[in-house]
Amino acid sequence: MKLAFIGLGNMGAPMACNLVDAGHDVRGFDVAAQLPKVTMVESTAAACEGADVAITMLPNGAILRQVAEEVIAALSPGAIFIDCSTVDVESARAVADQAAAAGIGALDAPVSGGIGGAAAGTLTFMVGGDDSAFDKGKPLFDIMGQKAVHCGASGAGQAAKICNNMILGVTMLGTCEAFALADKLGLDRQAMFDVVSTSSGYSWTMNAYCPAPGVGPTSPSDNDYQPGFAAELMVKDLGLSQQAAEAVDAATPMGQQALALYEEFVETAAGKGRDFSAVLPWLSGQGRK
Ligand code: NAD
Repeated sequence: MKLAFIGLGNMGAPMACNLVDAGHDVRGFDVAAQLPKVTMVESTAAACEGADVAITMLPNGAILRQVAEEVIAALSPGAIFIDCSTVDVESARAVADQAAAAGIGALDAPVSGGIGGAAAGTLTFMVGGDDSAFDKGKPLFDIMGQKAVHCGASGAGQAAKICNNMILGVTMLGTCEAFALADKLGLDRQAMFDVVSTSSGYSWTMNAYCPAPGVGPTSPSDNDYQPGFAAELMVKDLGLSQQAAEAVDAATPMGQQALALYEEFVETAAGKGRDFSAVLPWLSGQGRK
């Protein structure tokens, strides 16, 4: 297939490389990054002209909306536009409506799996859009990832992503504060892990991504909390969850509190540029307020 790939940053670059390795003809554009493995062109429009599918992997919804104007104007009717960025549900739906009006199929397809998953081609795609667009995008998701879940109509992929990451943020905070409490109660961290990871407190954050160094499987905590999944990205995703919750009047008190804590965390030296599990040493250094 002739593919356009816009946004070749930490995630987009390895995803585009996997598409090239699978034999696709990929033209790329990024305002800053260069990627020798794809045919780099000078604009979004130049990348999209004549493409069967355009893929974007951009920082946020405002940038997506700008880039989408150019993508939709340059693609021919019948082409597919897949946005893999994490953005607000409203932007995803607005872009899909604009694409539909131009006869272009649109999918919101945010990912889980991080930079490692992007490089290994093991991302999970959460996809919103109609069946025919999903069927056309599926072979590409199969190259870039190990699973693509069709979640529903436009916006459903972003909805799934922010709900998942709201659980992730809340659970990580719960796991970290439990370790911090256990420390002060004199409970050995390994004993804490051995009990919780096989008891009703188990979770992905405890069992697969343990925030305590030297305990459980290898995780960013074992690498001085280098991300991993940066705390700033958790602030972004929790912010999107609260924006969505406000728009539909949903009660999310834990999500709201998690956002406030992560916002505070990234303002400190303990949090800036660190993995989101570095909340553990941050909380350990505090007493009750
Ligand atoms: P990044 O900042 O590394 O990459 C974004 C790229 O978009 C940059 O290279 C930037 O130059 C480019 N860009 C910005 N404006 C542009 C424009 N107008 N035209 C063309 N290119 C433009 O970010 P990333 O880590 O690759 O994340 C991309 C998206 O994936 C974000 O929405 C993020 O929330 C989401 N995400 C990231 C991770 C992660 O672990 N990094 C995990 C899951 C989802």
